[in-house]
Amino acid sequence: ANDGLSVPAPVPQTIRMAILTLHDVTAARRSEQMRADFIANASHELRTPLSSLLGFIETLRGPARDDPEAQDRFLAIMHDQASRMSRLVNDLLSLSRIELDEHMLPNGRVDVLDELENVIAALELKAAERRIRLILDAPDSVPRVAGDDDQLTQVFQNLVSNAIKYTREDSDVTVQVTVVDGAAVGFAGLPASGRRGGRGGARMVAVAVRDQGEGIARTHLPRLTERFYRVDAARSRAMGGTGLGLAIVKHIVNRHRGRLTIESEVGVGSAFTVYLPATDESLGAADSAARRK
Ligand code: ADP
Repeated sequence: ANDGLSVPAPVPQTIRMAILTLHDVTAARRSEQMRADFIANASHELRTPLSSLLGFIETLRGPARDDPEAQDRFLAIMHDQASRMSRLVNDLLSLSRIELDEHMLPNGRVDVLDELENVIAALELKAAERRIRLILDAPDSVPRVAGDDDQLTQVFQNLVSNAIKYTREDSDVTVQVTVVDGAAVGFAGLPASGRRGGRGGARMVAVAVRDQGEGIARTHLPRLTERFYRVDAARSRAMGGTGLGLAIVKHIVNRHRGRLTIESEVGVGSAFTVYLPATDESLGAADSAARRK
């Protein structure tokens, strides 16, 4: 019996080894479980629109055979369901491709302002449907970031389109670009090789996407970037969401040795900020003048 005062005997080496192995098994089992959950979730997400498509095909072959008006209606629904499946498959493929080369730092040089202007132009129509104004608040020029332009476009597109989806109608979505000191946002310990910018260049380009939406309760924040995690699944689906957007964002930002922060207040709105390591290459005045045209 232990009186609570005696010093515990040292753990023999063999037992310690066994404990370590047990830990490994637990970690392996957890990752196996995560993989199984992921496949189950993905299958479920695909099966729902697929069942609906099969159902409508049966109806079109039978009861609706001679009803052109019902046929039009059903075909429109089938088109929506097929589009949803296609978005889902695209997102799943993106995610697996990004995960494959997550350890490789992309070697392009990206003009973030240029990308943001393109993303905003592409989403203008979608924003107008909900009477949302997209505002770019940025200096005339910012340093380029080391990155892959397609992937960074995907990041900005996902964040701005989420803001459009989840903010309230007739409000502003602001995309604010600033250059910040990496140390101030917790990047002091970044190894020089991860900085890409060379000497002293711990500057980061910060892109904050702010909305005036319903906000997200604190309990959801840590899980938001998990695959298929949604605060309100029905709402997300109704808005055309796949539940994979933020998981994709997180993986791309990791690959760029950047950071994603999420701040939100219920009833006020949310801010998703991406920090990306800046290079020493500033855009020339000619570049920024050309871009402003
Ligand atoms: P989805 O395709 O469902 O939008 P995401 O991975 O992009 O998937 O986002 C996950 C969830 O995070 C969303 O379902 C939504 O609940 C929440 N979310 C994302 N962006 C916002 C936002 N700007 N405001 C409120 N909730 C958001």
